Amino acid sequence: MPFSTVGSDLVFEKGLYLRMTRKILLCACAAAFLFALVWPAASAPGRSDADAVTLDPATLKCLGAVAGAGMMETNTYENLRELSDDIGARITGSPEAAKAIAWGLEKMKGAGLENVHAETWQLSHGWTRISAHAELIAPIHRPLMIDSLGWVGSTPTSGAEAEVVPVNAYQLDDEMKNPARWSGKILLVVHNGEAPTDRMASFGKFGNFLKAAHQAGAVAVIGGQGGSVAQGMHLTHTGVLGFDTYYEIPVVSMAAEDQEQVERYLDRGITVRLKIDVQNRVTTGPVGSANVVGDIRGTEHPDQIIVVGGHLDSWDLASGATDNGFGATATLGAAEAIIKSGQKPRRTIRFVLFTGEEEGLLGSLAYVKTHHEEMPNHIAAIILDNGQGPVSGFQLGGRADLIPAVQKFANSLGAFGKLKVDDEVEFGTDTGPFIVAGLPGINLDQDSPEYKYTHHSAVDTFDKVQADILDRDATVMALTAFWIAERSDRLASPWSQEKTAQMLVDKHQDVILKLFGLWPFGNLGSARE
Ligand SMILES: [Zn+2]
Repeated sequence: MPFSTVGSDLVFEKGLYLRMTRKILLCACAAAFLFALVWPAASAPGRSDADAVTLDPATLKCLGAVAGAGMMETNTYENLRELSDDIGARITGSPEAAKAIAWGLEKMKGAGLENVHAETWQLSHGWTRISAHAELIAPIHRPLMIDSLGWVGSTPTSGAEAEVVPVNAYQLDDEMKNPARWSGKILLVVHNGEAPTDRMASFGKFGNFLKAAHQAGAVAVIGGQGGSVAQGMHLTHTGVLGFDTYYEIPVVSMAAEDQEQVERYLDRGITVRLKIDVQNRVTTGPVGSANVVGDIRGTEHPDQIIVVGGHLDSWDLASGATDNGFGATATLGAAEAIIKSGQKPRRTIRFVLFTGEEEGLLGSLAYVKTHHEEMPNHIAAIILDNGQGPVSGFQLGGRADLIPAVQKFANSLGAFGKLKVDDEVEFGTDTGPFIVAGLPGINLDQDSPEYKYTHHSAVDTFDKVQADILDRDATVMALTAFWIAERSDRLASPWSQEKTAQMLVDKHQDVILKLFGLWPFGNLGSARE
C-alpha cells in the first residue's frame, strides 16, 4: 500500500495520531541541515515532477534524524579498521572467524542492541590453506603465480610435474565424454567459441567436471570459480565451487598474465609442462560456526521482523575489507545510526552478521532454517555485499509487487543519488535464502568498479574502502530498514511456495537452484511459453 495513506490512518486512529505527534517532536531536535540529506528537493535542478517526494512529513523527519546520526555519529570506519587489521582474514570455521564472532557480539552490545546472541550452525568440512606453488618447466623455465581455491584438495606432498591440456569451459558436456585422456595431466580451463547463455548453469556443471577430472586421475585444474579467468594485474582470486562442497582435486587460480602465456603455447601446439605443488588441510566436519544476531525491538509489532545484514566471514588471501568487512561494519553502523537517532521503530529490526557466506550462503540458510516457524512474521531482508561502492539501487528479489512503494522511498533519498529499483533476483549474496522463503530479499546494489580486483584476492584490504562511502551506505541501510519497520501498513508478507516457485521459474533461477540442491519446491512452478 502506498505510504501516503498514512494520512488517512491519522484521521481514524487517535492513538496513532498521538504517537506520530510525539515522533515529530522527538525528531525536531536533530540538526536541521541534516534533513537536507533526505528532505524533498522537488525543485532541485534536474529533478522531474515524477521524482517528487511523497513520504509523509512525520516519517521524513524521523528518517532525517536517522540520516544525521548515520552520517555523523557512528564508528563504522573505525570498526572496519579493527576487523581488517586487528582480526584480519576470517575464513569460516577458523580461529580468526571465532574471534570475529566474539568481536561482533561485543560491538552489537556496545551499540545498544538487545537480544544479542550467537546462533550456531555447522559446516560439513573445515578447510585451511597451506601453500601453492607452480613453475613452468617447458618450453621455458620460470615461476608462475597461483593460489588454491577454497575447499579443494592437495597434490602429493612434494608436488607433481605434468603436461598441461586444455578443457573448454563452454563445452563441458562434450569434454566430459572422454575423461580418460586427463589421466596424469594438469587441466587448464579455457574459453573457446560461444559462451553458453545460462552462465550460472555452467557454473553448476563445473562441479561435475571436477569430480570427473579427479576420477580420471588428473593432477590439478587451473581455473577460478566456475573456471573463470583472474581479473586484474598479477592477481589471483580464491573462492568455493558450490554450496557447502568439497572437491578432492586441487583447483587453482593463476594470474592472468601467466595463464595467458600457457594458453598461447597450447594454441601454437607447443607442449607445456608445469610443476605444481598445492597443499591444503581439510578436516571432515562438522565444524561449528555462528551468526551474530542483535535486535532493535519494535514498539508496536515486536514480533514482526526486518533483517539487516552483511557477512562477517571472508577469504584468506587478504583481510576481506571489501568482501565483506564493508557490509558487516555497515550493518553495525546502521544499528548505531538508528539507536543514536533516538527513534524507536514500530517493528523489530534484526541485525545479523552472517558467517559461511563464502562457502555458499551457509549462515543465511541456517538462519532461515533456525527461524522457520517465525518466517511468516519476517517482512524483508536487506543485504549489503557488493563491494566498496555507493549503494546504487534496490533489487527486490522477484517481488515486483513492491516496486511502487520502494520507488517512492528511493525517490526520497535524493541526496544519495538516483537509486534504481527493480525486482532482480540475487543468489550471489545472503538475500538468496530469504528469496526462497518467499520474502523480499533486498539486495542493495552498489557501484563498485574496483570490486572485480579486490574480490577474493590479495588486495582486499582496508585502504580500498573510503570512509565517506561506508558511512553513506550504512546510512542507506539504516534508512531502508527504518522506513520498512515504521510503516503504518506491513510492506510485505512471505509469498506461498507456489507463487515463489513460479517467480523463480519465470526468472530462470530454477535450473541453478536445482543443480545446487537448493530447490525446496518439488514440481511446483511450471515452465511458461
Ligand atoms: Zn561477499
